Amino acid sequence: MKQMEPVAGPLLVATRSRHKLREIREILGTVPGMEIVDLVQVGIAESQEEDGLEEAETFSENALAKARYFQRRSGYLTVADDSGLVVDALGGRPGVRSRRFAPMPDAVDRDTQDRLNLAHLLTSLEGVPPEGRTARFVTEVALVTRDGSFRTFRGVVEGIILESPQGNGGFGYDPVFLHPPSGASFAQVPDEEKARVGHRGIAFRRLAGFLRGAAGHGAEEIHEE
Ligand code: IMP
Repeated sequence: MKQMEPVAGPLLVATRSRHKLREIREILGTVPGMEIVDLVQVGIAESQEEDGLEEAETFSENALAKARYFQRRSGYLTVADDSGLVVDALGGRPGVRSRRFAPMPDAVDRDTQDRLNLAHLLTSLEGVPPEGRTARFVTEVALVTRDGSFRTFRGVVEGIILESPQGNGGFGYDPVFLHPPSGASFAQVPDEEKARVGHRGIAFRRLAGFLRGAAGHGAEEIHEE
């Protein structure tokens, strides 16, 4: 363990997803004095190198690889996340391969990816009864400081994979993810509710709590590189 340097100052939220960026900005915007910047603002254009940052076998390693990469490129205090769907009947798949679960050509847009992945998930679960369709969305968030030390934050939400898509909202696997406490799929619940109960919201609120506590002190424990 070593001392974390002060976490005040601009925080780079390293994601290419506008949807995620909006959700994350809302949560981190509650941290007093925390200025948030995104990849466009710091002038880091998308490059092919980024595709190689999600090759590890755990969400936390992937989140950390992304946060470290963008921290090195920007020099900013940086946060990045990795998320996915863990399905019990599939031995935890698609897991860290959630974005690339279905066989697909290299150059496909996000919407097509999502559609192919969702169809592949339903096919993979054909014949599995509701009680065997338990799953969870997981987000792991990694915070990397300017001196390279880091900390991770996890968010999990439990659900059941439906037999057919329900609702038009959200993205990815949302239409087949039944969230029992909401009584609806994640594509049917309003954005604010998903942000409140969802995996990403939970993980980023944990980060926000940490930043609130750490701001200005520079004395939080943090994992050593
Ligand atoms: P990422 O690491 O957050 O980009 O997520 C990887 C993949 O997991 C996405 O392409 C989606 O297929 C899936 N995923 C992650 N979070 C969600 C979510 O909130 N709803 C639906 N699918 C998600």
